[in-house]
Amino acid sequence: MATAVTDSSTSVDLDVKRQEILAKAEAAGLRLVRFLYCDNDGIIRGKSSGMSGLNDRLESGIGLTLAMQAFTMLDHLATVDGMGPVGEIRLVPDPTTFTIAPYAPHTGTVLVDMQTLDGKPYAADGRAFLKRMVARAAEHDLALLAAFEPEWSLARKEGEQFVPIDDSGCFTSTGMNIAAPVIDEIVAALESQGMVVEQYYAELGWGQQELSIRFAPALQAADHHILYRETVRGVALDRGLYASFAPKPWVDQAGNGCHLHFSGWSRDQTVNRFYDASGEYKLSSLARQFMAGILEHLPALVALTCASVNSYRRLQPQMWASAYRAWGPDNREGALRVASPFKGHEAESVNVELKSSDSSANPYVSLAGVIAAGLDGVERKLTLPPAVTVDPHTLDEGERAKIGADRLPTSLKDAIQNLKRDDLLLKAMGERLATSYIAVKELDVDAFANADEAFEFRQHIYKY
Ligand code: GLU
Ligand code: MG
Repeated sequence: MATAVTDSSTSVDLDVKRQEILAKAEAAGLRLVRFLYCDNDGIIRGKSSGMSGLNDRLESGIGLTLAMQAFTMLDHLATVDGMGPVGEIRLVPDPTTFTIAPYAPHTGTVLVDMQTLDGKPYAADGRAFLKRMVARAAEHDLALLAAFEPEWSLARKEGEQFVPIDDSGCFTSTGMNIAAPVIDEIVAALESQGMVVEQYYAELGWGQQELSIRFAPALQAADHHILYRETVRGVALDRGLYASFAPKPWVDQAGNGCHLHFSGWSRDQTVNRFYDASGEYKLSSLARQFMAGILEHLPALVALTCASVNSYRRLQPQMWASAYRAWGPDNREGALRVASPFKGHEAESVNVELKSSDSSANPYVSLAGVIAAGLDGVERKLTLPPAVTVDPHTLDEGERAKIGADRLPTSLKDAIQNLKRDDLLLKAMGERLATSYIAVKELDVDAFANADEAFEFRQHIYKY
């Protein structure tokens, strides 16, 4: 009985939400609404609905060939059983994600769930994977709050070349002045869609920017990262500029990370369960177990969080990108950095940052993988190795071995090999998602192995 009531009230809410979308679309004079998803290879794709029929499409979705979750970032189709030319799924909007796109005329956007024709979650959908992991965390009275912290590079296209917009330095006001007009529009465009801007600065690399938005519950944080990528690229393009989220857009410049901050709260989001006033670095034992789980699975997990061939050019020692399976307080060379909490607000601000993360990942898949690994640490009560308080690259091999601070995989190929051996992650992903994800990545690995370096850079620079 209780379930029936919940179900019907949820569907009433969704109905109300859909009516709100129609009203907003009409008031804004929209002509198209984009139904957007992120595919297995981290590419944001979608189809648009016109205004006539939007009402029905908001409810029943738009059809998509089953093949698309086997598509790569090069638009090659990987060979996966049941993901060929025959068969369809539906892209069904989550009406809570509707926004009006400030970067495209008369256009709205809505993020979708992939559903089978009979309305069930599609097993190869990354967003469904994240929803499952959020539900599993809830069984532990845990709600993850998360923030993707993206770096990206502003470029101009000169002929076939992408060229950074400036050669300004790290945190320089010169860099901020050069980018100011486009950054101003980006901030306005993000905030008009409900994302709250936290910090902005010119980063180290030429043309490189970092602009962070406020944390949110896990699913919304991943949704926001999709909208964020769309918005930054869209606004830049309006001004004739290209925003590159490639992990390493140019060989001689700093890489673009997308560090992932997270903390584990009680299910009702009132208590930060990662905080313990008496714990080392104010970390609770739950937080330590969660981190231990991430470190345990990291050699495979990076296949989800550093998800492109190009990712592994970024993941090098002494680039502040993290190259070792290590953690430490404010250690920017370790994979996990415990961010120092704010004085007087320790209980709310204790959080952990995964540095081995970039924007070529599908944010739903990467965050779901992080939660699966963290929960494994909690369930098995894993022990965190000692904190590393120096750059792990400066330790000798033996010292690193003693604390398990292994070098992370140096290629997507190796990361995928590790993923294929990580039963916990494979099981969490489920057979359909794991198989298609791995097939897509392996096709990329092959395609780039057979091409030169210039092809790799050219193909990654404006895909994410
Ligand atoms: N650009 C560095 C990376 O690739 C991060 C620099 C920093 O913000 O610490 O992750
Ligand atoms: Mg940075």
